Amino acid sequence: MLYYSPSIEKLVEAFEKLPSIGHKTAVRLAFHMLDLSKEETDEFVNAIINAKNNLKYCSKCYNISDTDPCSICANPKRDESVICVVEDVKDIIAMEKTHEFKGVYHVLHGSISPMNGIGPDDIKLKELLARLNPEIVKELILATNPRVEGEATAMYISKLVKPLGIKVTRIAHGIPVGGDLEYTDEVTLTKALEGRREM
Ligand SMILES: [Zn+2]
Repeated sequence: MLYYSPSIEKLVEAFEKLPSIGHKTAVRLAFHMLDLSKEETDEFVNAIINAKNNLKYCSKCYNISDTDPCSICANPKRDESVICVVEDVKDIIAMEKTHEFKGVYHVLHGSISPMNGIGPDDIKLKELLARLNPEIVKELILATNPRVEGEATAMYISKLVKPLGIKVTRIAHGIPVGGDLEYTDEVTLTKALEGRREM
């Protein structure tokens, strides 16, 4: 039995597919959308379409950006000799909020997880290795999440990169184990960055 008309049902289903949106919230959002004016609805829909059409991966760091290279890679004030490796684009935002890191990034878009069938070729690892010119890059900071997969990924990268003569460091713990960089507060993240140790 349908509680709502099929159109509303469909809208609710679409919202339910979004992360951390349960059924109740999906219903609330769906009805909120119905209250919007035609202009507001167009603006909302166009924002999604524009973002989808305009955003691309930065060909250097694999950040998601309106421009290629992204604004961080294109900024001459950023120190290209230090690359901070993160799992997710959202981790860059977390790091940038600390205002402490002046280097550049590399986004892996995941972590190695044999349990889930994700191997080194499934993340942007080849792309990282291709960037590592020892003439330019002096330090690689591994800021993968402090979970089993993040640790394993950091170990894997460290083993590959150390023979190149590039210093490899891991951000300090202090970020709760099993936690996410993106949800870590700025002070903790700044401390984790300052306390990084050589691998
Ligand atoms: Zn970039």
